[in-house]
Amino acid sequence: MTDVSVAKDAIPAADELVVLKNVNKHFGTLHVLQDIDLTIDRGEVVVVIGPSGSGKSTLCRTVNRLETIDSGSITIDGKPLPQEGKELARLRADVGMVFQSFNLFAHKTVLENVMLGQLKVRKTDKETAEKKARTHLDRVGVGSQADKYPAQLSGGQQQRVAIARALAMDPKVMLFDEPTSALDPEMINEVLEAMQQLARDGMTMVVVTHEMGFARSAANRVVFMADGRIVEEAVPDQFFNNPRSDRAKDFLSKIL
Ligand code: ADP
Ligand code: MG
Repeated sequence: MTDVSVAKDAIPAADELVVLKNVNKHFGTLHVLQDIDLTIDRGEVVVVIGPSGSGKSTLCRTVNRLETIDSGSITIDGKPLPQEGKELARLRADVGMVFQSFNLFAHKTVLENVMLGQLKVRKTDKETAEKKARTHLDRVGVGSQADKYPAQLSGGQQQRVAIARALAMDPKVMLFDEPTSALDPEMINEVLEAMQQLARDGMTMVVVTHEMGFARSAANRVVFMADGRIVEEAVPDQFFNNPRSDRAKDFLSKIL
């Protein structure tokens, strides 16, 4: 008789895209990620919230290996994170990342910014790269800005260009680390709307944000972190209306 339980363990479930198992990381004596277990399914939108310094950015950065981990494992689409070289560059393309600061190249046009990674990492030909760049710029509503330089755009437009740039790489998952925190209030919604649309299109997303409206409407799951640990995970309704942990109750009472 075949041992089904062993077989099931060895083969990752088809819908698991990002899997962190017992991940630990220190910065010197600071235990910044503690026994993190987190599975993100294909097409899932996970919003990560928690107090400042709880390890949210570090968590994101470990997933595309901007930070190494001390122990545990991280797999994407069933494969462990590569250590270096071309494989690592490809992984970073598979894991799109959007930061608080937009990090666009100032001396390149919007169109060039969105073409660059495709040409260098994906080795896409120029014509295809331009077409794809324009498609994604249109998708986030900045198609008409293609020939401008980043400094000529508003913060909200620049952030949408950064999203288009990540999308043009055909990522498997998109990580957003407080993408609207540096924006003037009137520009927050245009970026959140672009992200909402992505979520509706079925993109797998991990979003660190303080925008609770976005969390309520777009998230399949809320992950609450405090002091380097995942303290609570729940669907948004349950998390916001009925948080279980004292840490989450305390956090919500301060921000809502
Ligand atoms: P969050 O994004 O939730 O605010 P971070 O992941 O940025 O939290 O940081 C978690 C903790 O790790 C903080 O105490 C921060 O000061 C510390 N930290 C982050 N990056 C580094 C680093 N490169 N070196 C040392 N400490 C760091
Ligand atoms: Mg952070």
